[in-house]
Amino acid sequence: MATQGYGLFVTEPNAYKSLECNICGAECLVERNLPAKSGFIAAMARMDKPRDEFSCPNLEKEWHKQAVQLVMEIEKTPSKRLAQLMQQDLEDLLQENNIH
Ligand SMILES: [Zn+2]
Repeated sequence: MATQGYGLFVTEPNAYKSLECNICGAECLVERNLPAKSGFIAAMARMDKPRDEFSCPNLEKEWHKQAVQLVMEIEKTPSKRLAQLMQQDLEDLLQENNIH
């Protein structure tokens, strides 16, 4: 299951013409005016209203999942040095997959 905010974005209908993935920079695929879902989890995910969903075309790829994990860890760690190392890992990973 992908996490919103990491290559997956839920927005108000027609709020954006296009979005770029914040992980790999690819242009996101968009599904517009998806119908509202009901239920608590849907409400938490802001899916209880009509919405547009943007998702990175690379979202399901192994390297992209790894990149998302790295980005999350970088945001979480209190250590600047660790963050720097993980940032390098992330750049290597993207480069290996011909991103950037
Ligand atoms: Zn991406």
